[in-house]
Amino acid sequence: MHTPPDTPNRSPRRELHRRRMRMTLWIGAALLIVLGLGWAAFFSSRGAWAIVAMDLVMLAVGITIAVLTHFKRTRVAFFLLVISMFIVICGVSLLLDVPSAQAPRSTHNFLLVLAIAGLVFLRDDSPAMRYSVTGIICTGFVVLASWPAGIDMGYTLPDGMRVWGTWVNNFFSALGIYALVHVMVADLAEHSAMEVALRKGLMRGEFFLTYQPQVTSEGHVTGAEALLRWRHPKLGLVPPDEFIPLAEQSGLILPLGAWVLGTACSQLVEWSAKPGMDRLTLAVNVSVRQFRQADFVQQVQSVIERTGVQPRRLKLELTESSLVHDIDDIIAKMAQLRALGVGFSLDDFGTGYSSLNYLKRLPLDQLKIDQSFIRDILTDSNDAAIARMVIGLGDSLHFAVIAEGVETLGQQQFLMQNGCHLFQGYLFSRPVPAEAFEAYVLAAAPASAQELLDSGVR
Ligand code: C2E
Ligand code: MG
Ligand code: MG
Repeated sequence: MHTPPDTPNRSPRRELHRRRMRMTLWIGAALLIVLGLGWAAFFSSRGAWAIVAMDLVMLAVGITIAVLTHFKRTRVAFFLLVISMFIVICGVSLLLDVPSAQAPRSTHNFLLVLAIAGLVFLRDDSPAMRYSVTGIICTGFVVLASWPAGIDMGYTLPDGMRVWGTWVNNFFSALGIYALVHVMVADLAEHSAMEVALRKGLMRGEFFLTYQPQVTSEGHVTGAEALLRWRHPKLGLVPPDEFIPLAEQSGLILPLGAWVLGTACSQLVEWSAKPGMDRLTLAVNVSVRQFRQADFVQQVQSVIERTGVQPRRLKLELTESSLVHDIDDIIAKMAQLRALGVGFSLDDFGTGYSSLNYLKRLPLDQLKIDQSFIRDILTDSNDAAIARMVIGLGDSLHFAVIAEGVETLGQQQFLMQNGCHLFQGYLFSRPVPAEAFEAYVLAAAPASAQELLDSGVR
């Protein structure tokens, strides 16, 4: 399918991460297969059948990881690799590499390589996941390095062989650590270079807004969501999923978010002077850090005064994850902004942990069903049930409900049959520059006053 110029490329950083992960999985699978076959051949010649059976399991796991990697099930493959490597390294350390006065144990060094690999490859996971996986592996390392325990069931390799093994193990584990630390340092350097580029981009005006229509069942346009884009001079279009988290971490989201709000309001004012466009609403994404600022309400108020925008046409989108801390402060800010006329939509609804009790207290106008539930709504009965639940919840709490990420007519029809009459997604339009959005509205016709009321405008 043709991708319009304002749709970001697949993130180069994620692409690199994915490629690295797949390469590691192939190497890990090959290692398990070669080790499994090699050890099986070696121990069958010594008649150690219990070890041979374990080696065959290792071989099977290696083949499974290769198959999973081939079918792009990288996450499952990665966890299978980490678990099996952990078991193999501990097993070899305890059964084959039992330390003696002549030859110390060295196999356990690979646990350090495994722990660093966990840090590198789980970098986008939650800290709880990263640190529990790497913590367990490091504990294994400490135990095996400090305690000369071993189970001598007659499988322990002779000292002469283990002395050579020590050289080989130490060499390869040092190499592994060196390579992974190199990757980590490169990642860090790239991270800070991106941060500098982000700062410069803001000064040089490399950011712009695109607008994605929000439409009714009749195809009338109620408004748009403003979506931020960054055109980097060398990298091209960088997707928001990549630079928004970075901007959040560095605090740059504050000037960036203020720019988005100001630009979106100026755009609304421009539209309010155009026939057919004057009643459109504009949804603006607000990040957690932005909303948490003590003077956020005053900032919005001064943008409203400066641009002369009608607050009723402005809708702020908060994500469920921004509601985790200090709910009373959030509700107070929302109430003050609502008193000015500004509306609120809860983005990515269903993906966070907000309790229904909070939902009842929040002064919202709209719930947005997250696109992850819409994607498989026709084939996955759980997704369909969640979408129905959100629609029902919206009805009972008197919030409008909009579905995002609607890509097919089938999805739209299912949603309509279940009582959702507001949509946003590629089925209607991708996020486009302001002029293209204006052309879209004029071709599709703007929504009536009643349709606007139904969409959550007060
Ligand atoms: P979001 O607010 O949930 O925005 C919806 C995302 O879904 C947008 O991605 C949009 O392009 C995409 N989308 C819309 N329709 C479809 C569809 O039919 N299929 C698929 N697959 N995707 C669809 P985008 O523009 O890449 O933005 C990603 C996220 O970045 C946004 O998610 C929002 O959380 C954040 N973001 C974007 N602009 C801003 C901003 O100005 N400020 C803040 N704080 N966050 C922003
Ligand atoms: Mg949004
Ligand atoms: Mg969303």
